[in-house]
Amino acid sequence: MSHIQDPKPLIDVSGVLDSVDTRPETATPLLLADRSCCCSAPPAFTVIVPSKLPKAHSVDLLMCGHHYRQSRNVLTELGALVFASDGHLV
Ligand SMILES: [Zn+2]
Repeated sequence: MSHIQDPKPLIDVSGVLDSVDTRPETATPLLLADRSCCCSAPPAFTVIVPSKLPKAHSVDLLMCGHHYRQSRNVLTELGALVFASDGHLV
């Protein structure tokens, strides 16, 4: 029996990034216990990178402010959705 629980998804975006009308407008606000995917700094943004492949899933990332700013241009090119720590769309 495993004591590790499945992580709760940050936001359910299954299949919604294909349509502008159904894009989520908010994400789950970040908590003090959340950890960045990029480094040991606390996360400042939730980033959802849509897949360009059919039937593939989008990727949710928690990014610190420093790495978000470094990656902002690439994330924009990929059509990523970015949410501030309070869950509101940036
Ligand atoms: Zn970072």
